[in-house]
Amino acid sequence: MSEPIILIQPDWIVPVEPQGSVLREHDLAIQGERILELLPRAVAAERHPQAERVTLPGHLVTPGLVNAHTHASMTLLRGVGDDLPLQRWLEERIWPLEGRLMSPGFVFDGAVLACEEMLRGGITCFNDMYFFPEAVADAARALGMRVSLGIIVVDFPSAYASGPSDYLRKGLELRDRLGDEALTSFCLAPHAPYSVSDDALRQVGILASELGLPIHIHLHETAGEITDSVARYGVRPIERLDALGLVGPDTIAVHAVHLSTGDLDRMARRGVSVAHCPHSNLKLGSGVAPAAEWLERGINVAFGTDGSASNNRLDLLAEARTGALLAKGVSGRAELWSAHELLHALTLAGARALGLDDRIGSLLPGKCADLVAFDLRRHEFQPVFDPVSQLIHAAGREAVAEVWIAGKRVVQTRQLCETAAQAIIPEVVSRTGMWQNRISDILSGNAAL
Ligand SMILES: [Zn+2]
Repeated sequence: MSEPIILIQPDWIVPVEPQGSVLREHDLAIQGERILELLPRAVAAERHPQAERVTLPGHLVTPGLVNAHTHASMTLLRGVGDDLPLQRWLEERIWPLEGRLMSPGFVFDGAVLACEEMLRGGITCFNDMYFFPEAVADAARALGMRVSLGIIVVDFPSAYASGPSDYLRKGLELRDRLGDEALTSFCLAPHAPYSVSDDALRQVGILASELGLPIHIHLHETAGEITDSVARYGVRPIERLDALGLVGPDTIAVHAVHLSTGDLDRMARRGVSVAHCPHSNLKLGSGVAPAAEWLERGINVAFGTDGSASNNRLDLLAEARTGALLAKGVSGRAELWSAHELLHALTLAGARALGLDDRIGSLLPGKCADLVAFDLRRHEFQPVFDPVSQLIHAAGREAVAEVWIAGKRVVQTRQLCETAAQAIIPEVVSRTGMWQNRISDILSGNAAL
């Protein structure tokens, strides 16, 4: 017997493909995990008279948002590293804390908090880079989220792995083990050019092409990263990565703030995607990324939140609004990045960067039913000339009302509705005080060694 059909009936459907299209008086029919069709409401009533209906007056339905770069578990480090530049933030706060705290339990609890925050902000898929990725997978599975797990590689040892080959071995074993899970995919995630050696990077490049995996790497984040690379290797980081075989259409360059014309041309030529994280770039004082130059070259730009320790919120709609305002303000070109182009960057561009655009990122029949319904009825969102403009520039994540992932409703009237999540979240929240005490003890030097 075929699965029941559900008709979702908002005021507006924005399928993202074709870009700029706004459907009124239309229904979105889903069946099982997939989108069956988008059709005029009157036709839907005739064609699917028995279907369950989800009536959403005043709502806008879009594809689920794709967070192209985060470290979900760092929610537990939210607020511990304010007002520091990247290297001091890493060396004085993040790496010492991670060195003391890192465990599957820490990673799981942080990731559960992140998944809840992301779901309630309309994010249905996130691209993660962290230690113990299996614990991130457990958290995502518990909350019904789609995840791209980064197979992290870094030169220094951690509680998770002893060195680059151990990181790779453990990540690939996890991929073999979870390979059949419909909501899980993988990418290779060397941390950054300054924290991964040539040998390990070369190995990543070979594995990426053999296994067809994206490469997800922090790149050209600060001016110091460039000068250090030139001093140490005689070339800029992206040139070094290119020579090692890591720059191509499956590469996701995270941050990409400091780029010469040659770097930009190389990225465009090679088809590199960018994960743009404007709040993290601003908060760490890293700089303002050259968004106008990316867009002029047709580079695929997605948005990422980065982790909560450098942001400090996992709010992708806020990233898009800030990204657009910076691009317009810095370039002096108000026409840059329309609301519909930003929604494309938040959805289909992210899916494309992760190699998932055949499954998610737009509301085409046959794709997975990863959807968000935004409630635009509040007085401060009126009047609604274009619901996408309203979403990006006037509303925000507080407008998220309903979320479906692979056809399953995971948020209903702003509340998580996954049974497992309802049990797990209070447990995790009850442990945050313990994590906070441990972090405070470490920072004050009182932690037992
Ligand atoms: Zn990051």
